[in-house]
Amino acid sequence: MERVTLRFYEELNDFLPSHRRKRDFEIAFELPRSVKDLIESLGTPHVEVDLILVNGVSVGFDHIVGNGDRISVYPVFESLDIAGVTRLRPAPLRVPRFVLDVHLHVLTRRLRMLGFDAWWNNHAEDDELARCSVREKRILLTRDLGLLKRSVVTRGLFVRATDPENQIIEILDRLDLYDRIRPFARCIRCNGAIFPIRDPEAVRDEIDASVPVGVRNWCTEYRRCEACGRFYWKGSHYARMLEAVRRIRRARAAARTRLRSG
Ligand SMILES: [Zn+2]
Repeated sequence: MERVTLRFYEELNDFLPSHRRKRDFEIAFELPRSVKDLIESLGTPHVEVDLILVNGVSVGFDHIVGNGDRISVYPVFESLDIAGVTRLRPAPLRVPRFVLDVHLHVLTRRLRMLGFDAWWNNHAEDDELARCSVREKRILLTRDLGLLKRSVVTRGLFVRATDPENQIIEILDRLDLYDRIRPFARCIRCNGAIFPIRDPEAVRDEIDASVPVGVRNWCTEYRRCEACGRFYWKGSHYARMLEAVRRIRRARAAARTRLRSG
């Protein structure tokens, strides 16, 4: 029997039973095992892990653990200072591009509303989601642990929250994306990029056909999705979108205050 001591940090504890959270614990096993295999057998998908220290030394997922090893497992946590050690990600996760599973449509729309590139398809199977994540270097967002444990997937996050309002805050917080919010950059319907229309008169017929007359009466500035052609303007939905962003920022500030005082 081999015996090792493990400790999981920060939100990786979410995947552990309460008696193993935020403390050292020992496990015993028989066959030689990679550290990835060991970590996943305890419930944590490898995509959530950004750094593994074995006896204080940074190792890769394929490292074979030895008897008596002390293993520290750290999450994908952008503000954690781990300068000087090897991270497991092939590239930083800061590139905020996403692929979401079929159950996360509302979260997808929220992300697009804030300007993030979020791929979603109502009919996408797990294989396709995994391939899309790898091929396009997108962060896979899902509440399906099995999907995140696929070894081809190297970028992904298990979404803890079930309510879409909390989900968007969770993602912004965990990846520290607040400074990357760009309202009016992505089409909420199709994820295409949105551009200002330089000369509205050149597309006047199309504007007349698809923009309500109550808007056309006052609006002189339009944007358009390059993919599906949908028009966007700074009307009441824009005000609602800005209000949603403000709400998210307020929630974040409140959470930080709670952390400081608690
Ligand atoms: Zn579009």
